[in-house]
Amino acid sequence: MTGPRLYGPFQFTEPGIDAHVQSNSPGVYTLGSIRNDRFLIGYVGRADVDLRTGLKTHLAGAYQQFKFAYALSAKDAFERQCELYHEYVGLDNQCHPCPPSGMNLLCPWCRTLLAP
Ligand SMILES: [Zn+2]
Repeated sequence: MTGPRLYGPFQFTEPGIDAHVQSNSPGVYTLGSIRNDRFLIGYVGRADVDLRTGLKTHLAGAYQQFKFAYALSAKDAFERQCELYHEYVGLDNQCHPCPPSGMNLLCPWCRTLLAP
């Protein structure tokens, strides 16, 4: 697995988000910190409607940098989030990503049928 191409890392602050991320697009993101010139991913997230707003809901946390990629739709964002979730071990995510509201979807990577 190569994973979706992500932009960044950028500073995980409100100005950092506003400077790099367009609003009104779904997408996926990783949150983490740079250690010894490597971006260490702590969390894999997704926004079904507005990536900029979705990122800002995590600003109170301990993450210092973020990467992101736009998605074509909420379903596309879900599948990209699943790919990232299965690619990285030791994430802070407590459980497998859930599909967007109102959709029962099969994870393309572990073939589990998931409900919102
Ligand atoms: Zn899965």
